[in-house]
Amino acid sequence: MTTRLTTDQILQIDRDHLWHPYASATHPPLVQVVSSARGAKLQLADGRELIDGIASWWSVIHGYNHPALNAAVTTQLERMAHVMFGGFTHEPAARLAKHLVALTPAGLERVFFSDSGSVAVEVAIKMAQQYWIARGQSEKHRLLSFGCGYHGDTFMTMSASDPVGGMHTLFNRILPQQLFAPTPSPRFGESGSDADLAPVEMLLEQHADEIAAVIIEPIVQAYGGMNFYSADYLRQLRALCDRFDVLLIADEIATGFGRTGKLFACEHADICPDILCVGKGLTAGYITLAATLCNKRVADGISNGAPGAFMHGPTFMANPLACAVGCASVELLLSQPWQRNIRRIETALSEGLAPARAQANVADVRTLGAIGVIEMKESVKSAAVQKVLIERGVWARPFGKLIYAMPPYVISDDELTQLTAAMVVATEVAN
Ligand code: PMP
Repeated sequence: MTTRLTTDQILQIDRDHLWHPYASATHPPLVQVVSSARGAKLQLADGRELIDGIASWWSVIHGYNHPALNAAVTTQLERMAHVMFGGFTHEPAARLAKHLVALTPAGLERVFFSDSGSVAVEVAIKMAQQYWIARGQSEKHRLLSFGCGYHGDTFMTMSASDPVGGMHTLFNRILPQQLFAPTPSPRFGESGSDADLAPVEMLLEQHADEIAAVIIEPIVQAYGGMNFYSADYLRQLRALCDRFDVLLIADEIATGFGRTGKLFACEHADICPDILCVGKGLTAGYITLAATLCNKRVADGISNGAPGAFMHGPTFMANPLACAVGCASVELLLSQPWQRNIRRIETALSEGLAPARAQANVADVRTLGAIGVIEMKESVKSAAVQKVLIERGVWARPFGKLIYAMPPYVISDDELTQLTAAMVVATEVAN
């Protein structure tokens, strides 16, 4: 049997050899050693417990160590952990595809599985571009994106992310240059007017002949600042895409599977994109998997043009373990009164975070579905905030001006009270 490492050994190896996300290798930020997790709670190696307020980057929707999800993985493991998807198919992929087609807006009929959110967006962009190549209009290859948009860390996805707030600036000279419209407004719940879309309309008027697709996170621009924008805006955007004959890509990687109170955020506006990306909650945070869905127009357009095939094929495409847990996660979600549960979380987040409004350094407090946000007036001192949160038994990862929560849906009322109270106290040390 392999001897287990002590906590000190883990930390030493981590310091010597590991590289963490968005972190320096030479001056790494403090990391906690997690030994196990259950429900909404993480168990640290030193015995402390933390409520995971952000569900492992928004993915662990049903909480950790869920018996039904564990069983789905182990049952599939005994049959086959993996098989290539080139030349083979299998039940978990077929079942998950059927679920996705049934649950996403009507019209999305074809499912392409890949490994991660960023890759799903790469696939979506490639689909849009190959569609126009197949139609003999290869000049239509650029993207129209938005201020505060975020679509991933790979190169095309970086190019489609906010050029000011995101990482785009650092790589500006080597990224494909896309077109950007201002950050979508007005806010969610407010009605919009045609004037809100005027800058998008102008860009489309000038550039439609070189634009393959408009790409947007429906309703919630997450990593770009937790901007909750009006459903009218999204509805009008769909209409503009139709008018100017460009495809619409909806990136639901952060918003899918109930997070905003609808199964998919596009439903708030009652629209169907041409291409839709899902990830994160797709496997409830168990195993990395993402999917890009498209309509018949895109699938047939690509397949009927040369070379008659979509030119993408990841090694771990449609991994059976991941698909099996994805099916179990979807079935688990649908077997519960999940809308009522999301409303319960929304109410608790909104009531629990409300006292932060009284703080002079807080700019805004907002909630939508199982997302609760405190926006500060200035950038947050993340390390100081995290320290206060951890002392109060809570895990969250503030970024920019935001201290936010996106908890697992299994979080209890008491845990929500503890989470929101800690976030409110943390605002005192935020700037
Ligand atoms: N799109 C959106 C909207 C996201 O929020 C993210 C991840 N935060 C991604 C794409 C990239 O997903 P991944 O980290 O799985 O590559």
